[in-house]
Amino acid sequence: MPRIAYVNGRYVPHRDASVHIEDRGYQFADGVYEVCEISRGYIIDMPGHLDRLDRSLRELSIGWPVSRKALEMILGEVVRRNRVRDGLVYLQVTRGVARRDHVFPPASVRPALVVTAKSTDPAVSARRAEAGVSVITVPDNRWERVDIKTVGLLPNVLARQKAREAGAYEAWFVGTDGKVTEGSSTNAWIVSQDGRLVTRPAEHGILRGITRGTVIKVAEQLGLKIEERAFTVEEAKAAREAFITSATSIVLPVVSIDGAAVANGHPGSVALSLRAAFFDVAEKCLA
Ligand code: PMP
Repeated sequence: MPRIAYVNGRYVPHRDASVHIEDRGYQFADGVYEVCEISRGYIIDMPGHLDRLDRSLRELSIGWPVSRKALEMILGEVVRRNRVRDGLVYLQVTRGVARRDHVFPPASVRPALVVTAKSTDPAVSARRAEAGVSVITVPDNRWERVDIKTVGLLPNVLARQKAREAGAYEAWFVGTDGKVTEGSSTNAWIVSQDGRLVTRPAEHGILRGITRGTVIKVAEQLGLKIEERAFTVEEAKAAREAFITSATSIVLPVVSIDGAAVANGHPGSVALSLRAAFFDVAEKCLA
C-alpha cells in the first residue's frame, strides 16, 4: 500500500507529493508544524496540538491554511488512508510560495499545508521505556523564540545527531546558567530526592510540550508534588529519577546523563507510573 500525503488540497502518493522550490518553508524555514501521536486508532491530545498551532501561526502572522474543522478532518483522513493504528501524524504550515524576498509576500499568497502519517511499533517504544535511555548535554545555541514550533530545527538536528554519535538517545540543551532547558525534541524532567517532580516553567526557553501538559495532569491525579522551575545538570545527575516527554516518546525514563548513571541506572517508578496512566488522562479523538 503506498503512503498517502495531503499536499495543498490533494491526497497524493508520497512519490508524487512535492512542494514548489520557492515555498518559504524550504527557503527560509518560514513555517510551523505539529506532531500528534496516534494510539490504537485515536489521535492523542489533538485539541492541545491545534491550540498550539494556532498560537505559533499567530506569533508569526501566518494565516490558517484551512479552517480548524477542516484540518481536523484532513488529519483523520490521512491517518485512515495510511491505515495507521499506532504512529504519528505530522502537519506543516508554511507562509506559502512567493518569489524569494525576505519581506512577507502579499496577503493573496495562501499558506501551504502538508500532512503525512506513519506507523510506528508500540512494542519498540515499550521496550525503550523498560530499558530507559541515555542523554548527553549540549550548549543551547537556539534563538530566543523556541516557544514557537517552527520548522527551523537545525540546532535541534545537530544536537540530536551528536547524541546519536555518542550512543545516546537524546541531547539536553543547557543554558549559559548551567540549567537544562529541554531536549532536542522533548521536554526534560527530574524527580528530586524528596520525591517532587521538577520541570522548567513553559514561559521562556522551552516549547510548551502538549505531552508535558498532560503529564502534569497525570501527576496531579497520582497525587505527586510538582515544582515548575529550572534545574541544573548536576541536580539531574544526582536526582532520584529523570525522564523526557513528547508526543513521540510519551514518557521515557532517562537512565544516564553524559555517561553518569541516574540513581541505580534503571528506569524509575515515578516515570513508569506516569507512562502507564498517560492514556487514561490524554484526550483521544477517533481518527
Ligand atoms: N521540545 C521540543 C524542542 C520539541 O520539538 C518537542 C516535540 N515537538 C517537545 C519539546 C515536546 O512537545 P510535545 O509534547 O508537544 O510533543
